[in-house]
Parts: sequence; structure tokens; C-alpha cells
Amino acid sequence: MMTAEASTEARGLSDWARQFEVVVWTADAVTLQLLHVSPSAAGILGHPLEQWWTEPDFLTRHVHPEDLDDALTLFLDGTRRRSGRSGVLRFLDADGQALPFLTKVLTREDSEGHAPQLRCLMVRLERPPCASQEPERFEREREVLLRKEHEARERAEALARQLAAGESRFRSIFDSHLIGLVFSDNHGRILDANDAFLRIVGYSREDLETGRINFLDLTPPEFQAVTQRAMEAIEARGVTSTFEKEYVRKDGRRVPILLGSVRLPALAQNATFVLDLTERKEAEAERERFFRLAPDMFCIAGMDGFFKRVNPAFTRSLGWSERELLARPFLDFIHPEDRGRGEATLDALKQGDAGPGLSVRVACKDGVWKWLDWTAEPVPETGLIYASARDVTQQREAEKQLVLAEQRLRTVINSGPLVLAVVDAEGRFLVSEGKGLRSMGLAPGQVVGQSALELYANEPQVVEFLQRGLRGETCSTIVRTAGLTFEVFYQPVLNEAGRVASLSIAALDVTERVRVEAEREELIRQLMHERSILQAVLRQLPHSVYIAEAPSGRLFLANEQAVTQIRGPTEPTLNVEGYRAYPGFHADGRPYEPNEWPLSRAMASGVPVMAEAVHVIRGDGSRGVIEYSATPVRDAKGHITHGVVMGVDVTARKAAEQERERLLDELKLAVSARDEFLGIASHELKTPLTTLTLKLEALACVASAEPESPMARRLAPHLEVMRRQVKRLAVLVNDLLDVSNIRAGRLALTLEPQQCDLAALVRDVAGRFDTEAKRAGCEVHLHAPAPVVGAWDSSRLEQVVTNLLANAIKYGPGHPVMLGVEAVDGRARLTVHDRGIGIAPEDLQRIWGKFERAVSERHYGGLGLGLYISRQIVEALGGTVKAESALGEGATFIVELPLRGGAERSA
Ligand code: ADP
Repeated sequence: MMTAEASTEARGLSDWARQFEVVVWTADAVTLQLLHVSPSAAGILGHPLEQWWTEPDFLTRHVHPEDLDDALTLFLDGTRRRSGRSGVLRFLDADGQALPFLTKVLTREDSEGHAPQLRCLMVRLERPPCASQEPERFEREREVLLRKEHEARERAEALARQLAAGESRFRSIFDSHLIGLVFSDNHGRILDANDAFLRIVGYSREDLETGRINFLDLTPPEFQAVTQRAMEAIEARGVTSTFEKEYVRKDGRRVPILLGSVRLPALAQNATFVLDLTERKEAEAERERFFRLAPDMFCIAGMDGFFKRVNPAFTRSLGWSERELLARPFLDFIHPEDRGRGEATLDALKQGDAGPGLSVRVACKDGVWKWLDWTAEPVPETGLIYASARDVTQQREAEKQLVLAEQRLRTVINSGPLVLAVVDAEGRFLVSEGKGLRSMGLAPGQVVGQSALELYANEPQVVEFLQRGLRGETCSTIVRTAGLTFEVFYQPVLNEAGRVASLSIAALDVTERVRVEAEREELIRQLMHERSILQAVLRQLPHSVYIAEAPSGRLFLANEQAVTQIRGPTEPTLNVEGYRAYPGFHADGRPYEPNEWPLSRAMASGVPVMAEAVHVIRGDGSRGVIEYSATPVRDAKGHITHGVVMGVDVTARKAAEQERERLLDELKLAVSARDEFLGIASHELKTPLTTLTLKLEALACVASAEPESPMARRLAPHLEVMRRQVKRLAVLVNDLLDVSNIRAGRLALTLEPQQCDLAALVRDVAGRFDTEAKRAGCEVHLHAPAPVVGAWDSSRLEQVVTNLLANAIKYGPGHPVMLGVEAVDGRARLTVHDRGIGIAPEDLQRIWGKFERAVSERHYGGLGLGLYISRQIVEALGGTVKAESALGEGATFIVELPLRGGAERSA
């Protein structure tokens, strides 16, 4: 490494330094790699000179450790300040002694503008500046120096020997196939190489000798920059650090390599060693593949508590991404209850103790905890922990289930009505457990050691089965003892020789079950009984009944009437659609759609359908009408489970109804024909009657002209009779005409009501009945203390009063008739009271109808129209009329009228 120029400079320095205990050196300001050292250094500190510049980090390694910080500060400051810095530093000599030096550091810019250099002057402090002042000590030290010089020489010789040995060692390395070695010049030309190198790059020795190998071809483009930096390092410091790259072989394939170069100044060559990394890379790739593909979790973690690397199995198992796992201390992922154990394990690992492994719950990203079994190995030098984890959650769960199952089994044995026992081949109890023992008055284990055959000697059935079991037969039986029922199972256990070693007995207390079964049977019996009653009821019912399942509509029950009603077999239907087979029609002849049937609708809507008439065509072709009423059947929760429909055959009733309607229509026709006839008849009668009246009056007029003539005297009584009869005829004809008009809506009231006094009107009418009343033997009394004036149609009102008074005389001859007129509460009231035959209560309403009468025609003539017309008139006047009577006790007719209004109406 020392150039010729450097040697001259070194010599100058040495001469200067020789007078003092002074060491002078220069070094690369960045790497602190020594470049020149004064030879005095070897004498003062004892380290051979080569060591100063060949040993990397010589300076920092030989500064006293306590002064290292100061030294670095000094060197660094020396770099920054051109003016230089100084301080006292202790350096270690070859014997390990610390020698203090006043150390001054300067920077020196390289003449070629290369990296700056440090120049340092070290003056030893302990030695006095002038030796002559202390001759003895100087002498002593000279001896020491001489000795050291002697030692140095010996070391140099040893070094020479070492070198020779090194040379031969180097040769062997060169010739070995372990490592590739290449020698090249400063321009990168390859001068020499060993076989190992040629093998790595795939060239032949001939290629080498003919100069066909050069670094440029060997270096792939992406490694050019790294290679360039390495060249610069050689240039600057004479050495490169080792680094990895790839070469391009002669055949074009890539080969991974590790290489490092050093300058050989004496030869003006660079030596480069090359190590083939193919195998290592493959091994690494393999390892990496295992790491990536392993189903188990592998990781590298730091003692600082953080993962450094995790394999994909972590993400697969836990759901966290690699980044999430690396971001938090790994203890964070452990279940809080298990974290203490995690911390203890980490502490042990920090102490270098691999420990027995760790089983903890670890959080998955989705919040689930997984049990992981960890094994780890610490490497304290690197501060790393290599660990693997296995997901044992399922295993843990299975273990837990097993424990649970066992607990459950024990609970069953100890809480269920069960006895478990094992007897040996002689029938002695080995085990006797279970809660069922209690009902037999035994404690668990109480009979252990006793003979089962003796214990149950009084129970031949038990003994028989015990013996069968002990003979190797698997059997079971029901045993009733002490009011309890047991179902007992016998299971022999055979030994290797096939003999019965023991007999397992399980006895189940089924007392309760037997009781429940008996109860159930009783219930079923009752149900069957009720069912038969129901069937009898259905059979005897005069109507058809169908029961269907909801919502399917499957008909599963129909009584016999269902068959007779439609005179054909009821179709077995599985669903609502099957109802199409039933011949039902609407009134208009349209057939019933399956979902239109009352049963379908009741099941679908939950609303009962009442008496819907369905026209049917029976199996024998006859037609009929059946009224179906359907209702849904609900269970306790209110869900519709069934539907019931009952059909009543109303064919006959419907026919009778139709007949009645027909007769009614006929009757209506007859009545209207009669009314029409009466209308015409009364109208036609009126004309001759009027003429007759006029002629009668004319005759009366003639007779009255000569009243004393014999003719007039003979006519007079006849004229009177004729007048009365014509008048009566006129009343009858008028009544008939009124009825006809009322029916035709033509009963005319005088539309302009006149002021009239009801009292005067009644008095007037009563006056006109004077003769008639006398002839009938009736005294007519009128009680009308004051006029009662209203706005009424007086002629119609007169008609009413006439009718009532005429009836009172007709049905009460020989009795007085009382008439009353008064105003009550703003209304006019007329009362006609007689003491005649009276009216039966059941006739009181009827008599107000047209042609209605309550007397026999033989005794009393009349058409039964007077009251009818009177009522029409009173109501047209806005009033009311009623009769109060009892048979044989006379009758009272009461008319009430408003004092004004009511005349606007016509009836
Ligand atoms: P007619 O008197 O022509 O039968 P009405 O319409 O006047 O017709 O009377 C109907 C029926 O009411 C009578 O047939 C009679 O039975 C009964 N009736 C009416 N007025 C009286 C009365 N004052 N006393 C008993 N019965 C009466």
C-alpha cells in the first residue's frame, strides 16, 4: 500500500520524529484507515508497523476505550476544522499498557482532490523532553528500547516466516477449488484466475489466456453501479468490503456470488476473491419457501418485544397483516389472562433460556382468541428470538369438550334416575353408583364387595338375568321392586381368554316414564272415545259436515250425509285444487272455483262464511241448493289448522219460497186488478148516481109544490127513504173513489187550508146525524167549551168526523156517544167515544187497513174503508189518529191535528 512517494515522506517524518517520542500518521478522514505511519510508532507502542496500516480500525481499537469518545470527537473535529485540534489521548501499546500522548490532528486536502486526510502528531507525555537530565532513567529506558528493538526484529523475522507460510497457504487457497481468485490490473483487465473462478464463470483457461474474460462482460447491467462503487473504494482505500452480486457466465446464465477485492500495491494489481453462492442461495430460497409455505407459524422476533419477520401462516391463522403484526409489541396480541406468562417467557429468553415452550391465547383480527403453542430459541448475540407457533385451538376445544362430556356424564349418572353397577365374575359388586340408588335406599358404593346373587336372592327375576349376564349373554329386562320399575341392561365384559371378567349393569328407573305412558294411554283411550262420540254426532247430524286440514285443504273427514246430500261419493281431495271435483254453481250458473268455496275462503281469510246458497247438480242429475256455512279452526296460538263446513240441503225450502213468491205476485196482480175495477166502477157509478140524485131532488121538488096532494103524501115517505139510500150509495161510491185515488196517489186535499173552527165543524156534523142518531137510540153529547181554530181542509176534516161519528152510532146503538173538542199543547184534539161493541186488542191496528173489518158482515154492513180513508186524511193534514178499546167496552177514537200547516201534503 505504500507508494514510493509515500516512502520518501515517511522517511522524512521518521527522521524528525526520531528525536522525540513522537508518532506521526496520516489516515483517511472518513474511514480512519491509516495511510502513513512514522516508523517510530513501532518503537514507542510496540505494534509492528504493518499492523498499523493493514489492520482495519487499528486506531479505534488501540485508543484506550475510556478515551475513545474523546478520540473520535478529536478526529472528527479535526476533519471539520482546518485549523486542527489537540488533546491528550491514551493509546494501548503491544503489552496492553496505556501510554498518554498529546495528540494534535489536522486535516489535509489531498493534492488530487481526493477524500480529505487526517494528519496527526502524537507526542508521548510521560517521557521527559530531555533524557540527559535523568541519565539513569534514560539508560534504563534505552535498555528497554533496545530490548523492544530486539523484540521487533524477532517479530519481523517471525512475520517473514509467517509470510512465507502465508505464501504457501495462499498458493493452496489459489489452487483449491473452494474460492475463486482473480488478479486484475487497475483497468479491470483480468490477468490471472484460478480454476475455481473459471468454473464459476464458465470460461476456459484458454479464454483467460487469450484475454477473452473481462469484468465488464461478467457484470450484469443492474450491478454496474455497485461494481463502480467497489472500484472507487479500491482506488481510495485499497480495499472493498465484501458484497454480493451476480456474474453473467459465458453461457449467459447468472450465478450469484460473494466477492471482495484488495489492492496489491507491490504488484500494482488487484486481487479479487469470488465465492459461488448458488448453493447457498438455493438453500436460502428453499428455506424461504418453507418459511412461506409452512402451515405452522414461524417468526423472528426481537428481544425488544417486536416481531421482525413473520411468515404468511401468521396472517392465514390470525387474520392480521404482516405490517399489523410488526407494528405492535407481540405481547399485545396475547390474552390479558395469559400475558403474565408471555412476559415471563420473554424474560427467560432474554437470559438465553429457551424454556419449555408456552401455550397462550392470541387475538385474531376478527376478535376470536386462538390457542397457540409456542417454541422459541433465543440468539443473545443478535438479540433475536426464533420461534414457531402451532394453532391448537381445536385440540384445546376438543379437550374442553372431553372434560365437559365427562362432567356431563358424571352429572347424568349422579342426577338421573340411573344405577350403574359392575359385578365381578362371581357376582360381587365392584362398582355401584348413580342417583337411582337413593330410591332403593342405598348409598353409592354401599354394596361394593357384597354378592349380588345373595343380595337379590328373593328376586328370582334379578337372579336369573344376573346369571345369564355372567354366562356371557347381553340381555335386558324390566324389574318391578319396592313400588319402582327399573329397566335393567346386562352387558358382560370378556377377558382375553373370552371368559366373562365382569358384568356391567345399568338400571334405569322408569317408574315415572311408565306412569306417564299409562297416563298417555288413558288419554288416547279418552280421545278415541270422544272421537267415536264425535263421529256418532256427525253421522246423526241431518246435515253434511266436511273437515279439512289448513292450509293444504286436504279433506280428511266427511260424514254420511255429505254423500247422500250430493248423491254421489265425496271425492278424496288432497288440496284445495281438488274441490274442483264438487259440482257447485253460483246462482248465475257459473261453476265454483276451488278457492271460492266457503270452506276455502274461511280457511284462507279466517272469517266464517254463513249460509251461502250453492246450487248443485247431484250424482243422479237432479238439481238442488245447499247452504254451506264454513268456519276456520284455530289452535292455542291462534293459527288456523283446520276448516269445518256444514251443508244444509235447502232445496225444498227454496222451492217453497219460490212458490210463495209466485203466489204473492199473483195476489198483487189480482189486487191491482180489483183496485182498477173499483176505480173504474166507482167512477162509472158516479154519473148515474148524480143523475139519480138530481132526478130525486126534482121529484121531491114536484111533490113539495103541492104537499097536500094525495100523490105528494104517498110519495113523501118513499122519497125520504130514497134520499137516504141515495146518500148512502153516494158515500159508498165516494169511499171507493177515494180508495182508488189513494192507491193512485191522487187523494186530493184542498191545498189552500182555510181557517176553520173544529168545534163548530163537529157541531155541524153532529147536527146532521140528529135523525140517524135518534133512530139508533143514541144520544150525541158534544163537549166543546171553546172554539179550536186551525188551518185545515174543512171538507176532508168533515169526512173524518162523519166517519168516526157514523161508526160510533153503527157499532154502539142504544148507547150515548160523547164528542170532545179541545186544544192541547198547541194541537187540536177530537175524541169520539162510544159504549158499543168495542174492538179486540189484536184488531186495533188491523182495522186501519184497506177493506179491513173486525165485525161480521152479516151483522154490520160496510166496506171497511172509512177508517182507512180517515187515517190517510189525518196524516195528510200532519196529524195522528188512534183507537183505544176493549171488546164489549166501547171504543174511543182520538184525532190530533196541528193547528196550522200539514195541508201542503197530498196522500
Ligand atoms: P166499516 O165500518 O165499513 O166496516 P170502517 O173502516 O169504518 O169500515 O171500520 C172498520 C172496522 O172497524 C169496522 O168493520 C169495525 O169492525 C171496526 N170499528 C170501527 N169503528 C168502530 C167502533 N166505534 N166500535 C167498534 N168497532 C168499530
